[in-house]
Amino acid sequence: MGKVKRIGIVNQKGGVGKTTTAVNLSAYLAKAGQKVLLVDLDPQVNATSGMGQAVPERNIYTVLVGNDDARDALLRVAEGLDLLPSSPDLVGASAELIENPTRLAEVLQPLESAYDLILLDAPPSLGPITINVLAAAEGLVVPVQAEYYALEGIAGLMETIEQVRTSLNPALRLLGVLITMYDPRTLLSQQVESNIRANLGEKVFWTVIPRNVRLAEAPSYGQDIGQYAPTSSGAHAYRRLAEEVMRRVKEA
Ligand code: ADP
Ligand code: MG
Repeated sequence: MGKVKRIGIVNQKGGVGKTTTAVNLSAYLAKAGQKVLLVDLDPQVNATSGMGQAVPERNIYTVLVGNDDARDALLRVAEGLDLLPSSPDLVGASAELIENPTRLAEVLQPLESAYDLILLDAPPSLGPITINVLAAAEGLVVPVQAEYYALEGIAGLMETIEQVRTSLNPALRLLGVLITMYDPRTLLSQQVESNIRANLGEKVFWTVIPRNVRLAEAPSYGQDIGQYAPTSSGAHAYRRLAEEVMRRVKEA
């Protein structure tokens, strides 16, 4: 069994909680003493702005396409937490990334030794950026929204993961499926959770992320949930998730 350092947050569906998870999981992993890098790989730059950062001149686009050294594009956002920011220009990187699906893995190589964990926030598609994330990651976190069609598209995602594992990246494994935006008051949320656990068993994280308005508000203040609302249900959930992720990483 190999080590898990690079963790992709992936689901081709938008709005399922990838970026919210990437930002808040990174923050709590860093608070727990891990040296963490978050790489924003979405041209919508939500993780970058959610961490209170403007798009700088050097970013993941200029690293992937323009040959800037990734080490020169890092921003320190908190104790033990760095960000490699994104840029809207990343939409234009498709051609280069289709041609070279291991480009991201390559540019991250020089950063490897400086971090315990490197989180990769993927965009909402199965396009060339996400393929690069799958080729670079050793572990995957797949957020699924607690709604009726939660598992729709997961079969396709698992197939893609399997293809990348056999062709490009034998180290790739699923760290866990994460149920997000859970509303304990609704029967639907409970049914969806049971259904996901029945289908995916131990692959599902014990920690469930509740629907919590604080989680949706925090990014507009450029803060993670631990800064913005440390006693909220969302904060408790992401702190527990960080513990569970560290456990799964250790056991991997
Ligand atoms: P993705 O990155 O998968 O597109 P986001 O993390 O950006 O998804 O979440 C989509 C929207 O839902 C955002 O507005 C975000 O603030 C909100 N959101 C995410 N998770 C929660 C949650 N647990 N409770 C309430 N709102 C949430
Ligand atoms: Mg996102």
